Parts: sequence; C-alpha cells; structure tokens
Amino acid sequence: MESISQDIFQKFGYREIRTPIIEEKSLFVKSIGEETDIVTKEMFSFKDRGEREIVLRPEGTAPIVRAYLEANLHKTDTFQKFYYMGSMFRAERPQAGRMRQFHQIGAEAIGSGLPEIDAEVIKLLTSLLDAMKIKGYKIRINNLGCKEDKTSLSKTLRGVLTKEKNALCDDCRKRLDINPLRVLDCKNESCRSLIRGAFKSVKFLCKKCDEHFNKVLACLDRLGIKYELDPYIVRGLDYYTQTVFEVTHPGLGSQDALGAGGRYDNLISDMGGPQLGAAGFALGVERILIVAAKQGPTVDPHDEKVVYVATMGDAARKKGFELIDLLRSDKWEKKVVFDMDYENKSLKAQMREADKLGAKFVLIIGDDEISKGEAMLRDMMTKEQQGVKFDDVVRTIKGKIE
Ligand SMILES: [Zn+2]
Ligand SMILES: [Zn+2]
Repeated sequence: MESISQDIFQKFGYREIRTPIIEEKSLFVKSIGEETDIVTKEMFSFKDRGEREIVLRPEGTAPIVRAYLEANLHKTDTFQKFYYMGSMFRAERPQAGRMRQFHQIGAEAIGSGLPEIDAEVIKLLTSLLDAMKIKGYKIRINNLGCKEDKTSLSKTLRGVLTKEKNALCDDCRKRLDINPLRVLDCKNESCRSLIRGAFKSVKFLCKKCDEHFNKVLACLDRLGIKYELDPYIVRGLDYYTQTVFEVTHPGLGSQDALGAGGRYDNLISDMGGPQLGAAGFALGVERILIVAAKQGPTVDPHDEKVVYVATMGDAARKKGFELIDLLRSDKWEKKVVFDMDYENKSLKAQMREADKLGAKFVLIIGDDEISKGEAMLRDMMTKEQQGVKFDDVVRTIKGKIE
C-alpha cells in the first residue's frame, strides 16, 4: 500500500513529510478542539520527566501545520503539498478497525484557497483507493461554511436544542454549551435524530462559501468523481471549514469510514501563522486492509520475481554466496528478489523453500558444478534445466527475466 501510494503522490506533486510521534498536548487541544472526542477521551497523554504535557500524535494535520510554521515556509515557500504515512495513537478500547496504534496515509495541501485544491485532494484520495483496487467505496461531501457560518449555525442549533435539552444525553448537554455542532457526532440515536430535525431548516452559508462549494462540485464533476451530498457530516475536529468529506465502505459495518478530510482555512492563522487556505485527508490503513481482505486478492503480491540459489557443500555455498552478491549488485528493471539458504538445509528442503517463495528460477550448485565451473539453472515453471558458466550467470538470468 505504501509503495503504491508513493507513486501516486509523486504524480500529484506531493512530497513526503515526517513529523515526530510525540507532540505537546496543547497543539491538539488548540487545533482539534477542546470538546472533541479525540481530545477529551482518545489521546494518549502524559507528563514527561520535565513535567511537560505531551501526547502520542492522534492525527497528522496539526503536526504538519506546526512543522510548516516552525520551518517558516509561510514566509519563504507558501504553497506546499505534503504527504505522510505513519502511526497514530488513540487510547480507546481496541476493536476491529480501531487499534490504539493505527496507521494513516494522508496528504495536506497548504497555502491555497482555490476550489481546485479541494477537488485535487479528493481526486488524490480516490486515485489511491483505485490503485489499491478497493471497490464500492462512497464519497460523501458537505459544506460547513467559514468560521462565521459555523458560528451562526452553532447559535441556531443551540437555540433549537436548548428547548429539547432533557432529551439529550449527558455528553451532548455539555456539548450544547461548548460546541453544539459536536452533537452531530453523538453515537446516541435520539441525540442524532433531534439534531437532524433541527438541522433541516437551518440556512447558515454565506454567499462566498456557497459559491466556493459549487465550484468544488463542478471540479469533481469534470473529474468524473461520484459523490453524495450529506449535510450531516461535520467531522470530529474543530479545525474544518467549508468542504468536508468522508469516504465510507459498506464492508466495514458501523465504523464505516475508510478515511476523511476537508478544508481547514483557519488552522494556520489559529496557530499563529497568516490567513492561508489548506485542505487534506487521511486514510486508515487498517480499515483498507479489512476491506481488501473481504474483497479477496487485490494487489498481486507476486509482482516480484524470486531467484533462489540452492547449494550443496561448503565450496558450493561459498560460490553461491558470491554469485548472489553479483546478482544483487547488478541493475534490474523489474523487482527481483535474490535469496539463498542460511540454515544448512538439504537440497530437497532448499527446493521446497524455493517453491514456497514462488521462485521463478533456482540456481543449483554442488561439487559437480564447482568442478565444471558452472551452475545449474532450473526454470521452476517449465522444470527445464541448463548449465550456465559462473561468468554468464548474471547475463543469462537477466535475459530470462527482463
Ligand atoms: Zn461563509
Ligand atoms: Zn448525545
């Protein structure tokens, strides 16, 4: 998955960034938001020996923005496209598709407010899933509006929901004071239906945000990306503005998100930088693996060719060890694996091992071969064998593989 992703990211002009596993706790409290599930329940947070409040990173966006600002890129090279792959951590009870240490593959495009960037990150996400041969996923998209729109939506929702306060769960009653939008994230069905009812009649988007979203959708249409509009997507993080999206898969059950993302036009300025537009997404590696396993074989694991060197006796092993180094040192167009036995197994066991590895060719060397100055090259498909002079081994195998 990672090597497939690297090829796609390269094509889209995204370059890799690696941020530290640990960060200051305040980074996430400020960016993701105080009343979010991640911050209140899900972060691994502790004090280090210097009594600093630190956390294992729960997500990739805030650390990347921090790194971007610390490196002063907003002054020298404002527009940046990053991708990342790595471990994230959430202190939850582990369940299928929700590990405490899990992995994400994601991207961030920082420094642009253009609708083409919203569309590009969505296209990037679908290109990754397509390249991984994941079928049947759905893109759901929504417009949260700018900071002002979100505030007016929050106010309206607070007004409506306060009247129904007794029907809300304890968490949502608290959310109502701090951030009513969070009620939409509640897993409690009665809370959800309440807010959905309240939500229907609310008009909160300003003209600019409305226009931006229409342009994003027009870009997606031009790219041939299918999506569903879903007004209930708010995402569990406070930094999102305008376009937000989720990619879901029916093969996942109730935790059905393969990934998600959106625009976050205030995060950079909220973290002390200039007002800059940005958008990104993250895909959950374990979730994709669950879907891939249910779909059956997707990416061919055998796109690499294996050449195995089987030897009998000390002189042959010495020669085989030399030959394998010659083979590995050469330039190969295709992905080729060269390996040999390091357990002093019998020839029969070595041939079984070669079979298990899916070897295309086995180079067999024994005392006879040593005295003749050649190795026996066996084609594992056709079972044909031919003697090859030691000096010709690399050239011969090359001719057969490439
Ligand atoms: Zn707006
Ligand atoms: Zn609730």
